[in-house]
Amino acid sequence: MTNFVPLLLHVCCAPCLTVVQKALSQEGFRVTAFFYNPNIHPFQERQRRLETLTAYSESEGIPLETVEAYPLEENIRMLLEAENRCYACFEDRLSATAEKANEMGIHAFSTTLSVSPYQNQEQIKRAGGKASYKAGVEFIYRDYRDLYKDSVSVSRENGMYRQPYCGCVFSERDRYLSIKSPGMV
Ligand code: SF4
Repeated sequence: MTNFVPLLLHVCCAPCLTVVQKALSQEGFRVTAFFYNPNIHPFQERQRRLETLTAYSESEGIPLETVEAYPLEENIRMLLEAENRCYACFEDRLSATAEKANEMGIHAFSTTLSVSPYQNQEQIKRAGGKASYKAGVEFIYRDYRDLYKDSVSVSRENGMYRQPYCGCVFSERDRYLSIKSPGMV
């Protein structure tokens, strides 16, 4: 019988969770999903992604922890003041995940962000490493970009909501202007 290792997984959205949860389970991790994404603007968009995630987690029996607080002003201020907006955004979300894992007595954390071919993997790795050091919880980094196409297929087959932009109000604008956000590749 396999002894699964508990892991807290920061989840950006349900489509990315589909493939990452399976890959981590195959590696021997028992995943608890964690939704902390104050970078998703506006509120209704955040709710729509959270509702999709809640429905998927329930259907698959994946435990889900959610942060209900939505500090919009604080988040926009942080993104505006950051030297590199996306790096600050990764650091905020991964630090919260590492701290939550520590609080829950879970010794490893990871993120679904590394599925996206549009995100800067080096920045994700660096932000996760820093969060790991501060909270004393191991960061399990995996480059899941080769699973991106599968996540698109699985989510389409299941009629899942797929968001048309990364999350913040800047990325919502940038997609129309063909501007790349600082952490996007
Ligand atoms: S583009 Fe995405 S990763 Fe970058 S700051 Fe906005 S929400 Fe965060």
